[in-house]
Amino acid sequence: MANTGVWLIGALGGLATTVVVGARGLARNLTPRKGLTTEGVEFRNLGFAPIEELVFGGHEIRSGSLVDTAREICRQNGSIPRELIDAVEEDLRVVDARIRAGTAWNSGRAVEALADPDALDCRSLREEIQRLKGDLRRFRDEADCERVVVVNVASTEPAAPDPMRCGSRADLEEILDRDERNRVRASLLYAYAAVDLGFPYVNFTPNGALPPALQQLALERGAPIMGNDGKTGETLVKSALAPMFRDRNLRVLTWQGYNILGDRDGQVLSDRDHLESKVRSKDRALQSILGYDLHTHVGIDFVPSLGDMKTAWDFIHFEGFLGHRMAMQFIWQGCDAILAAPLILDLVRWMNLAASRGECGLMRHLAAYFKSPLGVEEHDFHRQHAELVRYAQAVRASDEPVVP
Ligand code: NAD
Repeated sequence: MANTGVWLIGALGGLATTVVVGARGLARNLTPRKGLTTEGVEFRNLGFAPIEELVFGGHEIRSGSLVDTAREICRQNGSIPRELIDAVEEDLRVVDARIRAGTAWNSGRAVEALADPDALDCRSLREEIQRLKGDLRRFRDEADCERVVVVNVASTEPAAPDPMRCGSRADLEEILDRDERNRVRASLLYAYAAVDLGFPYVNFTPNGALPPALQQLALERGAPIMGNDGKTGETLVKSALAPMFRDRNLRVLTWQGYNILGDRDGQVLSDRDHLESKVRSKDRALQSILGYDLHTHVGIDFVPSLGDMKTAWDFIHFEGFLGHRMAMQFIWQGCDAILAAPLILDLVRWMNLAASRGECGLMRHLAAYFKSPLGVEEHDFHRQHAELVRYAQAVRASDEPVVP
């Protein structure tokens, strides 16, 4: 068994579809290896899983197919070329046959509005977890996988209910035993199912799927985990640029950011409750990098015609020598899924590597990939990347686990 399984939660989303089409295109040498950090010189010869040995499956709450979603993305954005879809269509159909019905339990109005009626049912929390675990085991066995990395790329939920944010492991078990359904969202059920099986788990969303109770479970079950919320666009630029102001001792007075985006992600974020968890996640980095309070604001608006072509305008007002005030502005126009998809493949490779070395718990060295890296205070992109390079050097130097 040489395959590495990749289980995508939100398997028919824009990001998941771009990941699968891209991976199959790479496996067939039809597309260049751009955007993958694991292909960089610093990370050569680390023993990453070859892209052609990744096999895909996933959970979804809507009916549909990868082939249709890929064609829709091609029509709307042009980010997935038609010739590429034609060339990997058979591969996509194989993955389509491995997509299972997920759960949209307590995922908020905007997600519930997308979901098929079955996805809104929840027999009991424990039964739902058992069902999800059964799907994961079956995929591992049927696709001949040595290991399965589970990645949450489902829609953004409203902020996690309070007890889920800080509850202990015992609290969590009690909530599940008592079937206290309003205290748990779907993202937590998925994360629990994966981690309890000892499967590596990545939370690429802002959802609160990895509270301390699950971090503890990951240590007990030997599962490497990391999150939250992929750092792909405006926040990536912020976390690379803010250190320049800090290191030149230029005091930033205001950093105002305004994002407009279309597609389904934008539609879900146009609901206030869902938006709050995203804004919270995007707003953290600046104070932490600069080391003082400043005026910041992150606005996100839904503009349907833009599709996946997210546009962000940032205005930075700062003070220099003699207290003179100056300003910098930038406009970032990124195709969200094109920026994020290679990072998913990178994270799968890192998590697979960590699991093969017996590493478990939070993979803090992967902080550079996340807007809100769990267990890491450092938000400076350059320092985070240096940490990843240090980890790679330690891996080369010894077969002993580097983490924890
Ligand atoms: P999308 O709306 O295109 O896809 C989300 C998919 O998840 C949809 O197909 C939806 O039906 C499905 N889904 C929703 N709830 C589910 C559930 N409970 N179980 C199973 N499936 C479920 O969004 P996207 O653009 O693909 O982004 C996916 C996620 O990744 C979002 O949470 C987004 O915030 C996060 N993210 C994306 C980027 C990026 O693309 N650059 C960066 C950081 C984070």
